[in-house]
Amino acid sequence: MQRGEKLYEGKAKVVYATDQPDQLLIEFKDEATAFDGKKRGTIAQKGVRNAAITAVIYRYLQDHGIPTHFLAQVSDTVLLVRKVKIIPLEVVVRNIAAGSFCRRLGWPEGQTLFNPLVEFFYKDDRLGDPLLTEDHIQLLRLATPEQVERLKTLALQVNQLLQRFWSERGIVLVDFKLEFGQTPTGEILLADEISPDTCRLWDASTGDKLDKDRFRQDLGRVEEAYAEILRRVTSSPAATPAERGK
Ligand code: ADP
Ligand code: UDP
Repeated sequence: MQRGEKLYEGKAKVVYATDQPDQLLIEFKDEATAFDGKKRGTIAQKGVRNAAITAVIYRYLQDHGIPTHFLAQVSDTVLLVRKVKIIPLEVVVRNIAAGSFCRRLGWPEGQTLFNPLVEFFYKDDRLGDPLLTEDHIQLLRLATPEQVERLKTLALQVNQLLQRFWSERGIVLVDFKLEFGQTPTGEILLADEISPDTCRLWDASTGDKLDKDRFRQDLGRVEEAYAEILRRVTSSPAATPAERGK
C-alpha cells in the first residue's frame, strides 16, 4: 500500500491518501488536546497504543456485525481504512454520568443512568462542538431522520458489545464518542477511532480512571493508563480479576 499525499492533520491523527481512491491511511499521534484545544500536551506512546487498541476493538465490532471502515493495521501507528464522507456529528453514548453531562445537568459523577443515553454534538471546533437536538440536525441538514435512527441503533449496538468486551476485562465503560461516515453508495460505516482518547474507562475494582481524563484533570500516571488499557485489550477475556493483576 503506497502512502500518498497528506490530506488532513487533526489534533490526534494524520490522514493520508493511498494508491486506492477509496482507501486512506490514518496515523495516530502522541499529541493530546483537551478543552477545545486550549490544553495541549504529549502522551508518550499514545499513537502506538491507540492504533493497537482501535485495531483490536474494530476487529471485534466487525466480527459482531457492526459495519466499520477498518481494513488492516499496517504499522505500529498506522491503520488502513475505507474512505468515507464523515457525517459531522459526534455520537456520544453514556452509561454513567460524567463530563459534560454532569456539568450541564448537575448530576454527580459516577451515577448510573437508568438506560444508555445517546447524544449528538455538532463536529465543529470553531463552535466548540455544541449539543444538538434531532430538530437541529434536520434544520442544519446534517443527516436525514432515517440516518439519525440508524446512527442511534448502531451506537446502542456498539455500546452493548463494548460493555461486554470491557467488563470481561475488568473495565467499566462509562461513556464514549463515535463518528460515522458514508460510502459513495450510501452505506453508513463506523469510522475514526475507539481508544482511551474517546472513551471513559474505569477499573471495575478500584474505580481508577484509565483514560484521557487523567490528562484532562492532571491526575498523573497518564501513560500508564493507556498502557494498562492496551494490556487489558490484548489479554484473554476469560482471565479472572486475580489473574489479570499478575
Ligand atoms: P480532529 O479532526 O477532531 O482533530 P483527528 O486528529 O482524529 O480529529 O483527525 C482524524 C480525522 O479523520 C477526523 O476529522 C475524522 O473525522 C477523519 N476520519 C476518520 N476516519 C475516516 C474515514 N474512514 N474516512 C474519512 N475521514 C475519516
Ligand atoms: N469525546 C471525544 N471527543 C470530543 C468530545 C468528547 O472523544 O471531542 C468523548 C469523551 O472522551 C467522553 C465522551 O466523548 O468519553 C463524552 O464526553 P463529554 O461530552 O462528557 O465531554 P468532555 O467532558 O470530554 O468535555
